[in-house]
Amino acid sequence: MMKELPKIYDPQKTEGRIYELWEKSGFFNPDKISSQKTYCNILPPPNANGELHLGHASGYTVMDIFGRYARMKGKKTLLLPGKDHAGIQTQVVYEKKIKDERNITCNDLGREKFYQEVFDFCRDRSNYMRAQEKKIGISADWSREKFTLDPKVLKIALETFVKMYEDGLVYKGNRIINWCPRCATALSDIEVIHKEIEGKLFFIKYPIKNSKEYVTVATTRPETMLGDTAVAVNPKDERYKNLIGKIVTLPLQNREIPIIADRHVEIQFGTGAVKITPAHDPLDWQIGKDHGLSEIQVINGKAEITNLGGKYQGQSVLEARENILKDLSKIGLLEKEEKSSINKLICERCKTAIEPLISEQWFINVDAKKYSLKKAALKSIQTGKIKIYPENFKKILIHWYENLNDWCISRQIWWGPRFPAWYKNEKIHVGIEKPKGKGWIQDTNTFDTWFTSSQWPYTTLGYPKEKDTKTFYPTDIMITGRDLLFFWAARMIMMGLYRTKKVPFKNLYFTGLIRDKEGNKMSKSRGNGIDPLAMIEKFGADALRLSSIIDTAPGQDSRLYEQKIESFRNYVNKLWNISRYCFFSSDKFSLREKLASHDFKIPADRWIVDNLDKLIQETNRLFDNKQISLAADKIKKFTWNIFADWYVEIHKIEKNDKILGYVLDKILKLSHPFTPFVTEEIFQLANSKNKKMLMLSHWPSISKNKTGKNVSEGKFETILEAIIQIRNIRSIYKIDSKKKLNLTIQSQDQAFFNENRSIFQKLARVDNVSIVKKIKRPRNSAEISFRGIKMHIHLENVIDVAKEQERLQKEILNAENYLDSIEKKLANKEFINRAPQEIIQREKNNFIKTKEKLCELKNYFENIAS
Ligand SMILES: [Zn+2]
Repeated sequence: MMKELPKIYDPQKTEGRIYELWEKSGFFNPDKISSQKTYCNILPPPNANGELHLGHASGYTVMDIFGRYARMKGKKTLLLPGKDHAGIQTQVVYEKKIKDERNITCNDLGREKFYQEVFDFCRDRSNYMRAQEKKIGISADWSREKFTLDPKVLKIALETFVKMYEDGLVYKGNRIINWCPRCATALSDIEVIHKEIEGKLFFIKYPIKNSKEYVTVATTRPETMLGDTAVAVNPKDERYKNLIGKIVTLPLQNREIPIIADRHVEIQFGTGAVKITPAHDPLDWQIGKDHGLSEIQVINGKAEITNLGGKYQGQSVLEARENILKDLSKIGLLEKEEKSSINKLICERCKTAIEPLISEQWFINVDAKKYSLKKAALKSIQTGKIKIYPENFKKILIHWYENLNDWCISRQIWWGPRFPAWYKNEKIHVGIEKPKGKGWIQDTNTFDTWFTSSQWPYTTLGYPKEKDTKTFYPTDIMITGRDLLFFWAARMIMMGLYRTKKVPFKNLYFTGLIRDKEGNKMSKSRGNGIDPLAMIEKFGADALRLSSIIDTAPGQDSRLYEQKIESFRNYVNKLWNISRYCFFSSDKFSLREKLASHDFKIPADRWIVDNLDKLIQETNRLFDNKQISLAADKIKKFTWNIFADWYVEIHKIEKNDKILGYVLDKILKLSHPFTPFVTEEIFQLANSKNKKMLMLSHWPSISKNKTGKNVSEGKFETILEAIIQIRNIRSIYKIDSKKKLNLTIQSQDQAFFNENRSIFQKLARVDNVSIVKKIKRPRNSAEISFRGIKMHIHLENVIDVAKEQERLQKEILNAENYLDSIEKKLANKEFINRAPQEIIQREKNNFIKTKEKLCELKNYFENIAS
């Protein structure tokens, strides 16, 4: 006999125990599953410097749902977890920590000590985060867990760099880059945030040589003028045609610079003439290259004016700006200032203003002669080698690749792997090991964190030698937040194709961002975030899992709030209570895997199993299309609205424990990927004798083929509809629920009604039913027609006819008056002309609704009028 189910499901007492059961079984490790079919999802590594937040929790939920589904489908399933060292971000976090706690900077520690401390910090955080990740129920193989700085993982990533160097895909060069003065490092284009702010546009007059005229340029950054090497106009701009080729004197610096023509200059911006500072603006840098202009660096890495900035040397950028404007004003060269919205660049990590600077950095040439990273990636997307969910992200990705510039991969921070490049005098050696002989010094740069994480799908699998590569690469799916589309997803495709000649994953699935109830982004400053661990504590992991995926779609933002989670806790409880009913239904109740034809006793049995078959087919189709939100919703509706609301009620009248046990077994299996804890707990209680686990059960297949019988073809639904109609009549005429009804049914299939008579009578609370071939309408009865059936409900003895007539008459009058008033409103020209469109539409809708209601009311009145 099975164990009893406690009255109330307690996730707090259950989840830890169930997770331990799974973990101890060893089946998170695919090596224990013998199958030719495999499934692999390399999990995105969260940054090893924080804790589990809602984004991780919901992402893990999606990954785990697909993973559990694959495992139940009999696949050798690997969900490989890991952590990212997260270069700049961790450096910023740790620098703040030592500043707050010990009032020191990284320089006080020195490079080696700092690195070791951050490494230990990350290891600590990783242990802590792992414990949190388990709480969400992720069925990952912890024995394979990786860290981006694990020697084996890192070596593979560095080998890629060496190969790229040999293939001519990386170079060290002077280019304009985004420099964060606070982090004191270069940043790639996508690590910079563009922020629209209220600023000023300054109009400065540059005197034209040998003339009393000026050319006025407009700029948002007057301090950079110290480094100007030209003034540029658009060649099509008629206003400046005869100025092209002339010389102007750069104010304050007294340097002579030319007026040049370049098609990149926007005619509409400011005066149409702009200053060109190749050393401090990316577009100017490009123009400077095209025109052979010199680059004069007047701002340094600390955002201060250099010795080339004349008397402003040593001033901060902002000080210099003030002083320059003052000085220009004094000599009458500041024409005017205008308010203007400007596009400010700030550091993604620390929000400091970016200084574009020319500096020597390592770059990846994304479109090299020998191999074009971007063209290879484009091809894989265009030819559908990687399927993208949602599909519209494909276009965005293609556009991004098409406009991709060289990728700056060196950072001047300490936290991260150093470049495997060694220098001795003029010589350079690129290789994993330090060259033999004395005097070799290693490059001090560290890698952009995305350089290592973009290789995650194959470094984690031990490419190329380890067995896992052969078994699991290319992986099946990558699931990641839409905010990482460019940072990570796009780069993984490029790096995977280059290094392994294969796509890193066959499917790329994006999750959206989670917002609060009002649709706002969750943030610390707003204080509207939800702590997933607190929610698990309060409502259980299953409720959090369901609430974070139902009503979502790939790539689209969704809303999550406490009441939503609570409502799914109620569903989890419902599932528990249904199971409890089943368990108590008889001593011999058991979950049943299979059915035989003779297990079907009544039409309702066939009906519920048919519906279950439909659900299984639909769920499979939805899983194939990666529509797990819809799948979860369908399973939930079947469980609650079909199984619990109908079949369980029917079972109370005509017991068939075999069907009950069969359907519950399938519900548990279908639900398991979504709500693994509660379903496993129920399954364990039902299988206390053997050591089976729901996690390893076979995914349900449909019963039809095995039991061979015809399907009920919706026949039984006629009975259910009759019951619904009768319940409806009860509510219309406000019939006391204790009163039993009498009715006459006209149907050509009397036998079928008779077969279901007891169920029908009990669920509809009907006393006498006469089933006839042809009926005559009795007095005071409600007539209902549906599916070729006519039904008369006798009302004479159950309601006070006169009183009910009076009530209905009143309601009819009210409706007619209301209809009248709307009609008048809509005929009023003044109202039509003045009222907003949506109000007019609302009135029109009201009109239609009221008219329908009036029609019904009249019908009800008619029923009892004679
Ligand atoms: Zn920064």
